[in-house]
Amino acid sequence: MTIWFTGLSGAGKTTIAEKLVQVLRDRGRKVEILDGDVVRTNLSKGLGFSKEDRDTNIRRIGFVCNLLARNGVFAIASAISPYRSVRDEIRATHSDFVEVYIRCSIEKLTERDVKGLYAKALSGEIKNFTGISDPYEEPLNPEVLLDSETETEEESLAKLVARLEELGYVAPAVTA
Ligand code: ADP
Repeated sequence: MTIWFTGLSGAGKTTIAEKLVQVLRDRGRKVEILDGDVVRTNLSKGLGFSKEDRDTNIRRIGFVCNLLARNGVFAIASAISPYRSVRDEIRATHSDFVEVYIRCSIEKLTERDVKGLYAKALSGEIKNFTGISDPYEEPLNPEVLLDSETETEEESLAKLVARLEELGYVAPAVTA
């Protein structure tokens, strides 16, 4: 299956995706993570941030996720993926797809500014920055909605794992 994280930069996609990898590996599953920032240094090297390049980047990640997913691997995508139509297009290529939207307000993200990008985007130093000077289309019906503004990392992770169990994708942890 594919677990697709979407949300603004700094919302918590990579943080929760990496924790989820650990949980799934501990339960004996094969897992691969495709992180947007990492993919842009290899598979999508050279692509920029125009709508066309963003869509191409997301389609490539979706393509690889699909290859992995149909071979029994949990493919986890962690990328802003701002456009709803492309996310839905990738969903349509999958038989098992879970969209995880990590929500956080721009105010909180600007305050958090983990990578120092919001300050640069607000000053205009970085152009076409999602949420500031480029669009982000929220999922209308994600399978999982996490709110990193009000939840701790542990709470968000627990909520996600519980939902994957509820959907039947992950067996509950065996307690001794
Ligand atoms: P993204 O991958 O979406 O760009 P990161 O995972 O790199 O975001 O950064 C998210 C930041 O938010 C981290 O510093 C993390 O500690 C913090 N954070 C606070 N609460 C949460 C939460 N509930 N879930 C995920 N991250 C959180």
